[in-house]
Amino acid sequence: MSAPYPWLASPWQRLLATRARPAQALLLTGPRGVGKGALALAWAQALLCEAPQPDGAACGQCAACHWFETGGHPDFRLVSLQEKTTKDGETRLATAIEVDQAREAVDYVQLSTYRAGFRVVLVNPADSLNLAAANALLKVLEEPPLNTVFVLVSDQPRRLLPTIRSRCTRLDIGLPPLDLAAQWLGAQGVADAIQLLALSGGTPLDAQRWAEGSELDERRGVLESLARPAKLDPVTLGERWKAVSPQTWHNVVYKWLGDLLAVRLRGSVQFNRDFVDVLAQLGQQADLAKLLALARMQANEGRTLAHPLNRALQLEAWLIQYRHVFD
Ligand SMILES: [Zn+2]
Repeated sequence: MSAPYPWLASPWQRLLATRARPAQALLLTGPRGVGKGALALAWAQALLCEAPQPDGAACGQCAACHWFETGGHPDFRLVSLQEKTTKDGETRLATAIEVDQAREAVDYVQLSTYRAGFRVVLVNPADSLNLAAANALLKVLEEPPLNTVFVLVSDQPRRLLPTIRSRCTRLDIGLPPLDLAAQWLGAQGVADAIQLLALSGGTPLDAQRWAEGSELDERRGVLESLARPAKLDPVTLGERWKAVSPQTWHNVVYKWLGDLLAVRLRGSVQFNRDFVDVLAQLGQQADLAKLLALARMQANEGRTLAHPLNRALQLEAWLIQYRHVFD
């Protein structure tokens, strides 16, 4: 099996070269949307495969590969954010990896392996481990049992405990070259690959998500309102935007504020090239201190993306603050 994405060929080969003696704790880092999770899974499968190819990659055909691909390999554990059902019956992703999940993984690696080979525990996103969970995991990372490999995936490695980071062999995945990413998107049937890559900050998987979802329409709707701060009505928009997912809303607004700052400070637009004229004009009108305060608040909100009780009211308050930037 080849690298999950063409731009991962080099880190993939570097991993495969270590297959005989893999790092017992590997930390895969890099921006969101470059395929770290897919690389981690491919690596786990390569380690578990019982008839690996000459380069160390998984064969995709043996019993172990079959179990892995159907989610049932007994020597593989994924530790990730769990889905939780709220009182209203909605399903949401937990905001943290809890300590009982980490303890369960720690107990699991003390057992003997089912097959004779490696055992792999994948923690993704590792920066979501809460403090107790991180501490529970740290103990076993310090002295991993024989043939056990931990793979931690994170796009915010600075949020990991330094003691965890220092236990891991780190592999950084950078942004792919623009032409390679655009070529891949084109092959997936995505039109406007260059424009979408600008929007996604150069991350091809985010660009693909933009292309597939209704998010592009939602983005345009949000930005057309933000483009005319003097005319926007916070109450109406708060009601309308509460249907937009907090993640999408955050991404759109965060990049919009980033572009306003970039215009103001450097005279250039990074993400929203289709709004370049409006941004140039608004960037000059903006009160820099208020704009910075709002951008900082937005960055903080992105760390949690908690769903508040009254989303419409929260959006309304945000819109009032946004309007004040241009008073
Ligand atoms: Zn195999």
